[in-house]
Amino acid sequence: MAKAISVLGSTGSIGTQTLDVARMHGLKVTALTANSNIKLLEKQAREFMPKMVAVLDMGAAAQLKISLSDTNIDVFCGEEGIKKAAQEESCDTVVNAIVGVAGLLPTLAAIKAGKNLALANKETLVAGGKLVMKAVEDNNVKLYPVDSEHSAIFQCLQGCPDGALKKVILTASGGTFFGKTRDELENVSVKQALSHPNWDMGAKITIDSSTMMNKGLEVIEASWLFGCSDKDIDVVIHRESIIHSMIQLKDNAVIAQLGVPDMRIPIQYALTYPKRLPSPTKELDICRIGKMSFFEPDYDTFVCLAVCRDALRRGGLYPTVANAANEAAVDMFLREQIRFLDIGDIVSEAVGSFCDDKKDFTLEDILEADKQTRAKVREKFGHISL
Ligand code: NDP
Ligand code: MG
Repeated sequence: MAKAISVLGSTGSIGTQTLDVARMHGLKVTALTANSNIKLLEKQAREFMPKMVAVLDMGAAAQLKISLSDTNIDVFCGEEGIKKAAQEESCDTVVNAIVGVAGLLPTLAAIKAGKNLALANKETLVAGGKLVMKAVEDNNVKLYPVDSEHSAIFQCLQGCPDGALKKVILTASGGTFFGKTRDELENVSVKQALSHPNWDMGAKITIDSSTMMNKGLEVIEASWLFGCSDKDIDVVIHRESIIHSMIQLKDNAVIAQLGVPDMRIPIQYALTYPKRLPSPTKELDICRIGKMSFFEPDYDTFVCLAVCRDALRRGGLYPTVANAANEAAVDMFLREQIRFLDIGDIVSEAVGSFCDDKKDFTLEDILEADKQTRAKVREKFGHISL
């Protein structure tokens, strides 16, 4: 069980819920980081009194240094500062709750410093799964999934003998636009895409849920975490978000993990594994749920899911490219520079036009593919205003 944690991205949705868990179980918090939200970061720092905080934005970091000058908390800035937080000496576990591929270098830094990881930042595994899994093995650290589906699979796997797993079945809520046709999605607004039926999350993952890119990223994430190929990972739409995922074993027995949709359950399990401690979340009242529904995903309308599966089958840097195109596209959609359906088209085109089959790629190759893909997307669409 984790005793002292550094929380990267502590001001976000997962970060604040991680601190709820830390508060409840008296975990020591050794470092906190944010992109620029220093108001909340200062409040968190004063409550948890970590050894250090880090802010990506230099100006914001300078301001925070002044605000925290009456404390002993060190304030660092930029990517180096965030890496420092990932390697803070007295912590044993790093919670990576940064959004986007920006989480990859801090993940690697934490692993190299011998820290266990509670990983929410799925883009880390999508863009750099091969390097991350190798680093985990080389440095003999543990990687605990925080993403609810992957935590569910991890929980279902407890007690299963090696080699018993036949496939994993990822559940998906279907997001805001479940059942809609492409025509109906033509003019949806940012506000509509940002309203998720079951989960309250950061903006980027909420858009990813409405395009189903999130499930595509999760298929790739599952492939790394559980050693599965694309054909061993099913996706099923389950509107109620009560079953968080399932596994099917060699004898066709299916094991599922259920609970109310509250991220503090998987966050806590990643921090207390293998222990089960009391939780601030509600109990599941299954009779009130009444019934649960399941559907096949619509791969034609929600093309991002199909493209991620394609990228996974191709391997190499294709998942990195799919992720980078999506990050750039979501950013432009949130700024109202492109339309909702453009996101899927941009990701499809990026993966379809990429042709580099490097099997032995390096970290530099990943960062370069990420940079080039974003630049191409911005060059093509960045000037448009709707
Ligand atoms: P949020 O947008 O709510 O929070 C992101 C956090 O990362 C904030 O602390 C933000 O700081 C910080 N941040 C943003 N950009 C950077 C950057 N470039 N470098 C360093 N720090 C940065 O995201 P979520 O909490 O929703 O998601 C975090 C991760 O967890 C994502 O990968 C997501 O896919 C995954 N996840 C989230 C779930 C959820 O329920 N929210 C569920 C499962 C997975 P600031 O506040 O200053 O902007
Ligand atoms: Mg998830």
